[in-house]
Amino acid sequence: MNFDLTIKGNCILSAEDNEVNQIVLEHTLAEQDLPFVIVSNGQEAVEGWEALDPLVILMDISMPVMNGIEAIKAIREKEEGTGKRVPIAALTAHALSGDEERMMEAGADYYLTKPIDPNLIIAKIAEIVGPQSTRAIL
Ligand SMILES: [Mg+2]
Repeated sequence: MNFDLTIKGNCILSAEDNEVNQIVLEHTLAEQDLPFVIVSNGQEAVEGWEALDPLVILMDISMPVMNGIEAIKAIREKEEGTGKRVPIAALTAHALSGDEERMMEAGADYYLTKPIDPNLIIAKIAEIVGPQSTRAIL
C-alpha cells in the first residue's frame, strides 16, 4: 500500500473492514483536526503503522487477511527494544466476557465497543493525543 508520508508522525490510523463502519469512521475522524488514514485489514494496519508512525491506532478486531489481535501483537513485537509504544484502541462488536482481557493481553491500551459511537471515539482521541486534536464539541 502507498501512504501519504507527509502526514508521518502526525496522523491517526484506523483499521476497519466493514464499509458502513468505514464511512462512519471517516465522518467521525473528519471532525477532528488531525489527518487520518483508514485501512481495511490488520496487515495494512501494520504496514500503515510502519510507514506513518501514527499518534494513535483505532483497531477493529474481526478483519480479513490479518485480524486486529494479530496486528496488535505484530506491532508490539516490532516495537520491542525501540522504546516506542503507539497507543492502540481496540474496537469490537464482541461483547463476550473475556474479550477485553484478550485484547489487553495482545497489547491494546483501550477498548471501545461497537456500534461505533462518534462522540466516544473523538473523546478517546482527545484523551490520548491531547485536546488540540479536536475542534468537535463534545
Ligand atoms: Mg470487522
